[in-house]
Formats: sequence, C-alpha cells, structure tokens
Amino acid sequence: MAIQNKTLFDKLVELGGNLWWSWQPEVTQIFRDLDPDLWTEVGHNPLRLVRSLGPDRVERLSVEEGLSTRINWAYRRWREYLESANTWGATHAGVLGQRPTAYFSAEFGIHESLPIYSGGLGVLAGDHLKSASDLGVPLVACGLFYSQGYFHQALDETGWQKEEYPDLNPADLPLVPAVDRTGNTVLIQVDTRHGPIFARVWRVAVGRIPLFLLDANVTQNSEEDRRLTSRLYGGDQRTRIRQEILLGIGGLRALAAVGILPGVIHMNEGHSAFAGLEAIRQRMHDDAQSFDAARKEVASSSVFTTHTPVPAGHDRFGDDLMQEHLGPLADQLGLSHDALMGLGRVDPNNRDETFCMTVLALKLSLRANGVSSLHGVVSRRMWASLWPWSGEDEIPIGHITNGVHVSSWLAGQMRTLYDRVLPFDWHLRSGEPEVWAPLEHLTPGELWETHQSLKNRLIDYVRRRLQKQARRADATEDQLRALSQVLDPHALTIGFARRFALYKRADLIFRDLEELGRIVRNQERPVQFIFAGKSHPADNPGKQILQRVFQITREEPFRGRVVFIDDYDINLARHLVQGVDVWLNNPRRPLEASGTSGQKVVLNGVLNLSVLDGWWAEAFDGSNGFAIGTGRTHVDQSVQDARDAESLMQVLRDQVVPLFFERDHDDLPQRWILRMKRAVRTLGWRFNADRMVMDYVREMYVPAAGGVSCVMSR
Ligand SMILES: *Cc1c(COP(=O)(O)O)cnc(C)c1O
Repeated sequence: MAIQNKTLFDKLVELGGNLWWSWQPEVTQIFRDLDPDLWTEVGHNPLRLVRSLGPDRVERLSVEEGLSTRINWAYRRWREYLESANTWGATHAGVLGQRPTAYFSAEFGIHESLPIYSGGLGVLAGDHLKSASDLGVPLVACGLFYSQGYFHQALDETGWQKEEYPDLNPADLPLVPAVDRTGNTVLIQVDTRHGPIFARVWRVAVGRIPLFLLDANVTQNSEEDRRLTSRLYGGDQRTRIRQEILLGIGGLRALAAVGILPGVIHMNEGHSAFAGLEAIRQRMHDDAQSFDAARKEVASSSVFTTHTPVPAGHDRFGDDLMQEHLGPLADQLGLSHDALMGLGRVDPNNRDETFCMTVLALKLSLRANGVSSLHGVVSRRMWASLWPWSGEDEIPIGHITNGVHVSSWLAGQMRTLYDRVLPFDWHLRSGEPEVWAPLEHLTPGELWETHQSLKNRLIDYVRRRLQKQARRADATEDQLRALSQVLDPHALTIGFARRFALYKRADLIFRDLEELGRIVRNQERPVQFIFAGKSHPADNPGKQILQRVFQITREEPFRGRVVFIDDYDINLARHLVQGVDVWLNNPRRPLEASGTSGQKVVLNGVLNLSVLDGWWAEAFDGSNGFAIGTGRTHVDQSVQDARDAESLMQVLRDQVVPLFFERDHDDLPQRWILRMKRAVRTLGWRFNADRMVMDYVREMYVPAAGGVSCVMSR
C-alpha cells in the first residue's frame, strides 16, 4: 500500500507495532492525546488503545484533537529512521553487517506495556537494544516471553507484599509470529532426557532491532510445560534450568530457524550461557569440527557480561538437573556427564562443585566484563581461581560501565530546554563529551523552573497513585481527601526506588528515627521521601524491609512526608527520576555492580546522594552530587551499616539540606543549580547507553567478530 493511501488508523497501528514509539516522547504524546483516560486504562499500550477506539473514532478524534499533522509527521519520521543507512554503526560495525551480534538476556525492560523485566538488568538490556537501534549497530536479541510477566505488587494493610499475576494476551502486544525462510511459523524443540520441550517464537520490533521471544505455551507441550515460561524468575530450580535451556539453546536455534547466523554471541548475565554449548554443537555439526576446535572458535566470538557479585545472582544446578536437561546435548557434543559438569566448575575435577552458569559463561567466552570499574576489580577477584596461573591484573575480565538510554529517561520538557543550547544533532551524538558542554549556557531560572514543573507533575502523580491505592483498600472520602494534600512542592524531595534486595538497604535512612523526624518536620527546611520497589516473591527478608518502610509511612511524624507507591515499574521510574530533587542510593559496597537508576536522574538535573559503589564510585568528583561515606568497607557488616547510616544522616543534614534551601532574592538556589548543571555536563555523556553500546562495539563485538582488536578498559 502506498504511504499516501494509508489512513491515520493504519499509520497508528504500524507505529504501535514497533516499540520505537516508546522512546519518542512526541509520539507517545499523540497516543495519550487521543484519549487520555483510555491510555491509562490500557496500560499505555498503543495497540490496545487504537484497536479499542476503532478506525472511525480514531479518524474523528484525530481531526477533533488536531492530531492529523502530528500523526503524519511521526509516521514519516519513523519511516526515515528505519530506512536511514548513514549511521554510526555503518561506519564502525561494518564487520557485523552480514553476521550480527546476538544479544541474549533473561529479561528486557523496554516499556511498561511489555512487562517482561524485573529490574535493572532488564532495563539495561532494553536500553542496550534502543541505543543499538539508534546507532545502527547490527544486532538481534533473544529472550523469553513471560505470559504473566514478573508480577503486580499490592500491599495488604500491614504492608506485606502480595503478588498478582494477570495473564498477558499476545494479541494485544506488538508480537508477531517469527517465520522461517519459507514463511512457516517457527517451532523450536529442545530435548531433555524426559522428552522434548517446544516453544513458539515471537518477533518484536525495537526500532531497527528484532527481538525474538520464546514462548512455551504451545499445544505440543505438556500442561506443565505450557506454563514453563509464564513467570520471570518464578518456580524452582527445575523451572529455572528448563527456562534457561530454552533461552540459550532454543534461542540460538530460533535465530537459525529464521535464517540469522550470528557472528558474535553476547550473553547478558549467565542465564543464557547454554547458548555457548549450542553454538559448539552447531559448528561440530555444520563444519565437522572437533569439540575442542569448535569450543575455541565459539569462545573467541563470544562476549559475556557479569552483573553482580551477590552469590544468589549466579545460577547453580546439581547433577540430576544437569543430566536430565543437558544430557542429550552432551551426547551430541561427545561429552561424558563428568566432562559436561566440569565446564561449570572452577575445578573441573571437584565433584563437590555444582554446575555454575557464570563459570560456564566465563569458560566459553574469550571476552568478559563487569559493569563498572569497581565491579571489574571485584569480579576479577571473585573469579581469580579460574585462572590460577594469572596475577590479578591478568584475569581476562575487563569492564564497560553501564549507561542509560537518553530519550527514554530524559523528560520531554527538559529535552526541549537542552535543544535550545546544545548542537542540533546532539541526540545523535550524546556519547560525546563536547556535545554536552554548552549546558553551561542554560539560565539558572529556566532550568529551575523546568525542574520545578516536573516536580509538581510528580507530586500530582504520586497523589493520584496513593488515592488509587487507598480506593482499592476501601478508604473513606476523608482519607482520600487527605491524600490530595500529601507531599509539599516546596520540600526537598528525595526518591528511593529499586528492587528491595537486602544489600540495597532500603531502610538505612530509618536507623535514627528521631533525627530523621527532626529533619523531615523542620518548618523552614522540610524534607520528604518517596519510596517504591518490589521484593522478589520468595524473598521474605526483603518483604520485611518493605513492610517496615510501609509502616513508617503510617507513623508520626512521617505520615504524609514519607510515602510508598506500590507496583514499581518503568512508568513509575520515569516519573520519579524526572521529578525528585535528590536520588538516594545506599547499597552495601561493593555489592551494587553498577546501578543505573542514578544515571537516569542525572539526565534530568537531579542530584545523586549515593554510597561510593558501582558507577558512582567512578562518577563522583566532589561537586556533581553527594557521596555517602568514603568508599571504605568493613568486614563486619553491621559496623559498615552503622557507619553508612551515620554518614548518610550527616551528609543529608549538613550538606544536602542547607545547599537546597540556600536561596537568592529570586528564591533560586544558585549553588544547587550549579551542581545540577555540573552533574548533567560531566556525567550525561559518559553514563548513557549510546556510549556504552559504542564501547561494546569497539572493545568487544568488532574484535570478537574477527575485526581489528582494541584494548579493553581497565
Ligand atoms: C532503572 C530501573 C531499575 C534499576 O535501579 P537500580 O537503582 O539501578 O537498581 C529497576 N527497576 C526499574 C523499573 C528501573 O527503571
């Protein structure tokens, strides 16, 4: 169909069918403007929105709301985006042109309407795809389709987390069945000792990047296996290993089935490490190679990124599960059970060691990295025993620090402001430091006004969310009215939102309630907190911390000044990182490998108040935010916690609060605004996903594909 013959409805359906729209604030705004209430009701899902309106109402509303020009413009821009050949990737990643990088991840956080992520790892993977798309890097991605997603969080009246698992309907989502070269839909099979597991394959368009999601909900499977991929990180070890053979082995087979032969395999975390074994099998089969020769080639073209020093983050499987699920593949590889197990053991001969996915990934990839400079050091130390003959400096694990995707996290209003002072093509060059330098020229008043308007928007949003929560709990009219008054637009507003994993210490600020009460209730210089985050369903200690935070929100003097918003997701994250004044991050060093939420706030001129861990350890320069502690650690965890809590309180009381409330005759906090500018200017280019993906291309993908080698940063 020629473009000029397409109706506005057709164009909107096409736009909604490629997740590109989700990082174009102007296009998102078109969907919202069509019908704001319906937009909320359908969970920000444009396909559901447009289809439930139907062609006639879409045409009528477009005319009534004056949207036609904007729709045509958005559609044209999208076509141009897809067709443009003149990209960074075309000049820097040419070697990947015929054989792209295949990026494997157990979760992808692209947009709240496709809830197949649990936290930072998924959002990072989503941001990776978006930047790879923007930069034109030849990359395809593999994951799983979780038909119940992660979970929706609700809290009971005591603040105990309840999980809800509504079913997603694939027909409502931008998923199309993947087809092979002859046009048949793809069905993947992975054998176990107890019979095959099947999966269908969905194709999701993320800009220029195809993302393939395997889904076990097919009639060929047993009832039990049909539910295999229903939940992310759900079920027991057996579920986990079955999901992981689908992800790694099935994922690579899915690519082969649609005719994609990757030149590089990138395992984002160890969940997908079985892909390496399948790649070896394919080489042995196709090229009649020996196991050793194939293994060497696979390792030289594979990249592994490790994401956490926390032991629970590294999957381990025992003999029985391995025998049942990898036995058939091991047979094809000509490996005995013990030889197979050895690939997942630090000491292949130590039969007491279980099979570790991280060990497998490290053994099957020549290039590996941690996700911040400090995490690189920690990972080299953690896995040194795999290279017993090497000194710590020679351990082949480098680092590429994480970054966040600028247009996904930067508020539209802020971007408009930046557009006025930055080079016109700055969003195409956001990984270059010079590009951000002219931010100095922003006038303090404008920057502050924009920030304040985003903050007001956040406070409105928080009030509405709290009312919605309260309505579900049968609140009275009085209670609902009271909620329309919580939070003070003039108070220093501090945000804390992330998974409630223990090491993140969400309750650290509540160690000294008396002191905190004084800070919060100070008449001239009030401070308030917004909390959000989910705990893993099986993590009872995490849930207890969440409950404690919740209970504090109900107690004096914190009521109305400390709030908890339930069901943390990308949408809530976007509001928070764009609207608070300060972002609090107090993990137990050195357990936060990178952390990325603090990078999202940077883009919006929000200041970090953070422990010197992860990315912040290399980002903080004394004047672009605030540091908790000095980066010292203590062998005794309780000593470290007590020290950090004290430092946090001190920095908050003696530095953050005074600086925020130091106002000139126009009520502008001039020195605070300087710090905001410094943060954006010194950190925005470095901790963004374009820079990150460019680093992966230059330091990992191109050399792994056999291109010119480049030295890994240390
Ligand atoms: C960015 C993000 C995270 C990661 O937060 P950290 O503070 O880096 O752990 C988790 N969840 C969501 C929804 C996010 O957007």
